[in-house]
Amino acid sequence: MLSQINGLHHVTSIASDAQQNNDFFTKTLGLRRVKKTVNFDAPEVYHLYYGDEIGSPGTVMTYFPFPNARRGRPGAGEVAVTAFAIPKGSRDWWADHLAAQGVQNILKQDYLGEARLRFDGPDGDGFALVETDDDRTPWTGGTMDADHAIRGFHSTQMRLADSGATAELLGFMGYERQDSAGDITRFALAGGGANGASVIDIETLPNAPDAAQGAGSVHHVAFSVDDRDAQLEVRKALIDTGYQVTPVIDRDYFWAIYFRTPGGVLFEVATNEPGFDRDEDRAHLGEALKLPSQHAHLREVLEKDYLDPIRD
Ligand code: ZN
Repeated sequence: MLSQINGLHHVTSIASDAQQNNDFFTKTLGLRRVKKTVNFDAPEVYHLYYGDEIGSPGTVMTYFPFPNARRGRPGAGEVAVTAFAIPKGSRDWWADHLAAQGVQNILKQDYLGEARLRFDGPDGDGFALVETDDDRTPWTGGTMDADHAIRGFHSTQMRLADSGATAELLGFMGYERQDSAGDITRFALAGGGANGASVIDIETLPNAPDAAQGAGSVHHVAFSVDDRDAQLEVRKALIDTGYQVTPVIDRDYFWAIYFRTPGGVLFEVATNEPGFDRDEDRAHLGEALKLPSQHAHLREVLEKDYLDPIRD
């Protein structure tokens, strides 16, 4: 069993409109935009990162806004819900706040001993806020105060037709089966994990049709390791177990490896180094358009023809 995984690192999803996406995360949810860059594999679209003050691993929601992307179809083989931690007692405030912002499908739920609030993102994205005791310091430089602000990720909930092999994989990665309720089985990192985002839920729906990826879909889930040495250990262990894992890829703010899980969800293992302040002052994170060196020569054409300016 691996011991290098700290919990979630980031979750990356697809959106249909960069401005709408930016406003939802920075204003409605009150996260900080910690990086404005491009999709390194498709530089004609943005890659936007939202999190706490510095984009700590375990807090970072990221998006590829493909203009006018067709909406995804929910189903099996995907992340159905991305859940954020909020302070105990704040659910009712959030329900009113989200309703006032025009958020759709707001639903109070209680399971596995937790009070949660389900709601949809602008592209039908599945989100939840979960009341927890969480000592992570939230970003309060935007629209939220400390009594309400999101602390970071609580969990992701995968929806799978067959969960057996994925549950085994989570066990290999250091997760333990913790609890279950209805179709949901909860896994959490043994020992609690290092960064507060230690929970993965699996919803097993044997008859669900396969999901079709599009706007509102999660593209991949990334797990945190401390550094490149730990990442290489995890990569070797996964390959030895039979997984096809990509080489280490430099994403400027972390190093990444990717592999497809048995249930269909794409996993990434990302390093905590070097972080989002490697090319911007912490006071100004996310303000300027940052391009990786391999795409720096495209700046003029990207700004002129592809990337509409984002109004804050
Ligand atoms: Zn990623």
